[in-house]
Amino acid sequence: MARYTGPSCRLCRREGAKLFLKGTRCLTEKCAIERRAYPAGQHGQGSGRPRKQSEYARQLREKQKVKRTYGLSEGQFRNLFDRISREPGVKGTNLMVALESRLDNLVYRMGFAVSRKAARQLVRHGHVEVNGRRVDIPSFRVEPGQEVRVAQSSRELVSVKAAQDYASRGAPVPWLKIDAEKAAGRYVERPSRDAIPTTAQEQLIVELYSK
Ligand code: SF4
Repeated sequence: MARYTGPSCRLCRREGAKLFLKGTRCLTEKCAIERRAYPAGQHGQGSGRPRKQSEYARQLREKQKVKRTYGLSEGQFRNLFDRISREPGVKGTNLMVALESRLDNLVYRMGFAVSRKAARQLVRHGHVEVNGRRVDIPSFRVEPGQEVRVAQSSRELVSVKAAQDYASRGAPVPWLKIDAEKAAGRYVERPSRDAIPTTAQEQLIVELYSK
């Protein structure tokens, strides 16, 4: 399935949750969820009566929410799930760790881009290096111990500076060691599930894909 290219806020409204897809705007009163926390479109507000969700609907919505948060297409998400299913350990945790280990996610978490979408663009345009070598594949899986950094020639980019300023206001995750001056960061260790700042209920996704 092709990548979704429509309005980002529409996805948050569909899921009824802030997915933080637009960087700084997500923290302002301009956030669409703050103003209209119901799906877009003619039937978005429904009949006004709360509807009971089936188990399948809950699983499906959780999968959509996580997939959209990390910006993956259906095919990419399914392939990733199939891959982690062959690994030892708890499938749900492995899924979240695999998503967090993507290069675009780490560029975002390290504060070099204001959103995962912006991070993907930074990577695709060749501005990011892993262990000193340029990598332009957003889905590249970074291993614990590796260093991610914005290429020397790209450090003055306005978008990188703005992102660093934005990121400096939040608490960094403990499994990343960031050197903001050098626009570099090390993926120190594989995070435990508790150390991943997300409200995702990944067990629902495992149940969905295990049917
Ligand atoms: Fe979602 Fe951000 Fe848009 Fe709010 S501003 S609806 S969090 S993408």
